[in-house]
Amino acid sequence: MLSALAVDPEQGLDGEEAARRRASVGPNALKAAGGVDPAAIFLGQFRDFMVLVLLAATFISGLLGEFVDAVAILTILLLNAFLGFVQEYRAERALEALGKMAAPKAEVVRDGRRALVPAEDVVPGDVVVLKAGDRVPADVRLLWTEGLLVDEAPLTGESVPVEKRAPAVLPAPRPLGDRTNMAFMGTLILKGRATGVAVATGMATEMGKIADLIALTEETDTPLKRRIRHLGRVLVWIAVALTAAVTGLGVLDGYPFEEMFLLGVTLAVAAIPEGLPTIVTVVLALGVSRMQKKKALVRRLPAVETLGSTTFIGTDKTGTLTLNRMTLVQGRTAGGAFFVSGSGYRPEGGFFLDPERTAPFDPEERPEVMALLTYGVLASEARLLPPETGDRTEGPKRPAGRFRWLGLRRKAREAAPSGWRIDGDPTEGAIVVAARKAGLDEEALRRRKRAKVLPFDSVRRRMSIVYEVGGGRGVLAAKGAFEAILDRSAAIFDGGAVRRLGDAERRRWAEEAEAMAAAGLRVLAVAYREGPLERLRGLEDEAELVFVGLVGLIDPPRPDVPAAIRTVQAAHIRVAMITGDHRETARAIAADLGILRPTGRVLTGEDLRRLDGKALSRLAVETDVFARVAPEDKLRIVQALRAAGHIVAMTGDGTNDAPALKAADIGIAMGQSGTEVAKEAADVVLLDDHFATIEAAVEEGRTIYENVRKFVRYLLASNVAEIMVMLVAFALKWPVPLTPLMILWINLVTDGLPALALGLDPMERDVMNRPPISPSESLFARGLGWKILSRGALITGVTLWAFSERLAAGAPLGEAQTVAFATLIVAQLVHVFDARNERSLFDRSPLDNVPLVLSVLVSFALVVLVIAWPPAARIFGAVPLSAEDWLRVIGYSAAPFVLLGLFGRLSSGRPARPEA
Ligand code: ATP
Repeated sequence: MLSALAVDPEQGLDGEEAARRRASVGPNALKAAGGVDPAAIFLGQFRDFMVLVLLAATFISGLLGEFVDAVAILTILLLNAFLGFVQEYRAERALEALGKMAAPKAEVVRDGRRALVPAEDVVPGDVVVLKAGDRVPADVRLLWTEGLLVDEAPLTGESVPVEKRAPAVLPAPRPLGDRTNMAFMGTLILKGRATGVAVATGMATEMGKIADLIALTEETDTPLKRRIRHLGRVLVWIAVALTAAVTGLGVLDGYPFEEMFLLGVTLAVAAIPEGLPTIVTVVLALGVSRMQKKKALVRRLPAVETLGSTTFIGTDKTGTLTLNRMTLVQGRTAGGAFFVSGSGYRPEGGFFLDPERTAPFDPEERPEVMALLTYGVLASEARLLPPETGDRTEGPKRPAGRFRWLGLRRKAREAAPSGWRIDGDPTEGAIVVAARKAGLDEEALRRRKRAKVLPFDSVRRRMSIVYEVGGGRGVLAAKGAFEAILDRSAAIFDGGAVRRLGDAERRRWAEEAEAMAAAGLRVLAVAYREGPLERLRGLEDEAELVFVGLVGLIDPPRPDVPAAIRTVQAAHIRVAMITGDHRETARAIAADLGILRPTGRVLTGEDLRRLDGKALSRLAVETDVFARVAPEDKLRIVQALRAAGHIVAMTGDGTNDAPALKAADIGIAMGQSGTEVAKEAADVVLLDDHFATIEAAVEEGRTIYENVRKFVRYLLASNVAEIMVMLVAFALKWPVPLTPLMILWINLVTDGLPALALGLDPMERDVMNRPPISPSESLFARGLGWKILSRGALITGVTLWAFSERLAAGAPLGEAQTVAFATLIVAQLVHVFDARNERSLFDRSPLDNVPLVLSVLVSFALVVLVIAWPPAARIFGAVPLSAEDWLRVIGYSAAPFVLLGLFGRLSSGRPARPEA
């Protein structure tokens, strides 16, 4: 089969061959991804009913001889459509890119190296590496397996996990569920590891054969967008009713019906905020790409909004709050305590009898210390890599056994500053480094044949490896959480001899371990067992171990975490640490980081299991640390917090975390240490696994929501003003203040760019000093509705004032209309700056949103253009304005906002936002 697919299992395909096969068989996907269709988006701009009516009206007036008007209206409509098109196209492209970023990855061997590639790029013949938590990317013929257990429910509907074994040649054909030497696309690796060769990809897989039945729709609608669309529908009717009123009043005033009809329809087109949903999409999509720059990958768009509403963050400890760069600093054996110097993964340091590290000793003279380190190394798979060599995608440099490079469980997340790196789990790395300091070499120790692995998982909290030692005998080396190992130890290794471990002594060891944990150390116990190989091989669980001792590891906190935690707490968000580590270790680190408050509670997984749902809800809200929790406890914590009314963000990395991530309002997966399954279940993926990134994402979420409110305010106040100016003028039996073309131009100039720039407003300084946004809050809450009406009325007022003042001064109607036109636009352009602030125009410098300033300048230039450029002016019915008129326009437009701004500044003491 390998030769049929022309692949060497050690080398994998080479890059060129893979690219060639990709080109000939196509992407490894179940459905050809439909790209963005620009033409459809452009035509979509004319979907709007009122725009169609206007087109018809324009066409008729064109037939009636109003050519210039008709052409001008058409031009403006086209410009408008173009603007809408650019925005929508950009949004769609951004969403498409988002989909690509969030696409699943697969690990393959190419050119002799392991590489992470998009699952879409897997081709037949690729050597695929599978481990617990992966989703199988293609139909894979297994070459090598270790304890592989697969959940095939996605394919067969059969929920009982299937054991797979390789190599096995089976008489074909068999039912899928019985083909134990194959792993099928879309199924889930629950346990173990494997490699295999992809034999079918894309629609040729078993999954592909049934994929026609599966509709793959991605949710890109968000609650906010739905609300905005609903709002839009309501506003359409209001706008239609008001414009009908304008037309009616105009006709009653004696204007000809055709003229009034065109005016009314124009007004309706201008006043309907048809751009709202698109701008929301653009703002969300651009917010998403901004978050991505900050290392938070948003997989589902609604998460952006929910982030802004988050009230509780439950975070993992290791790697998220800490560096996950472990160093073994002390140990305890039957012979007493010892301490180790050195930092990071550099294998340099000495052994000491005292914590101050003044009394050195030679570990080789202490058999219990050597045993502790030796069995610790034997129970581990991590390797130490010297500086500059062995990039993590490279295979080992030294001659190693077949498939040796599979020995990875967790990748080192950070290279130590010294340049020494760990290939594998950092906890194990710390033990390996300490062993090197004692002169032990992990490669040499592990040269014996491995007979069995009892793998680590966060429920068992221990792992063991069985080695053959010859003569039909074997040795099992075990390490794990100290309770897990102590409970399974029957004897203790004491200076070369083995004696029984009594209950009293066991308790004393537990106390020692707790004391180490209380100092913030991660504590592991090491043990072993010797016996006939077959006996050891048959073990399903560790038992009758010989206890050797304890090791204590430090894992320094990430330096910027305490500040991030303070910021989050100031933002009225509760933070709790949720960890598999020991209660005392968790407590010490949480106190250090500022998570554990003096009155805060610490609960363990055991406590949780004793509490019913209600009691848990009550206690969970005041708990700062959840320790020794298993993944299913995490799910209960999420449910309890949500039942208590919290909007919960929860982090996770393992397959077992997926239910908790799904149940949380915001599931957050780790990008580096996380499994594919956890990422699939998550709304957000932290590309750097870092807590501070959650803080940044919440900040963005809040900013985006506020920005949506800002441009809703701006756009609606503008529309209110446009309609009110006409309505009031007709009600007062004044002449028509604006021509249809002017109205369309106002719409074009003010609705497009400035609104978008407002949607991208940078974060306000105090976003993280406010309470979270309540998800049930109306878009118009916190005074926004009032602001829209009052600012709309102000703009109406100054426009009508400017208009009537010119008329009263005896100016011709054309001049008064021009002044009204200019005033209405300029007032809106001033209002856009007012809309950026809750309180006062002067709270923020306009220069921190340069695009907004530029878009306002462009808009202003467009007004000047149609007034001062005679051919345009003629079409628009405008007349050139004197310098004095321009001053008047600017003065009238700006005055009320400046006054309001000053007043807002003076009336300090009022909080920027009332407490929720
Ligand atoms: P979190 O990432 O949620 O903060 P954690 O990473 O600290 O949790 P786990 O990885 O589930 O927690 O580890 C739980 C316990 O299992 C640890 O306290 C440690 O005692 C033990 N342990 C961790 N890694 C290993 C390992 N590689 N082998 C054996 N035991 C381990």
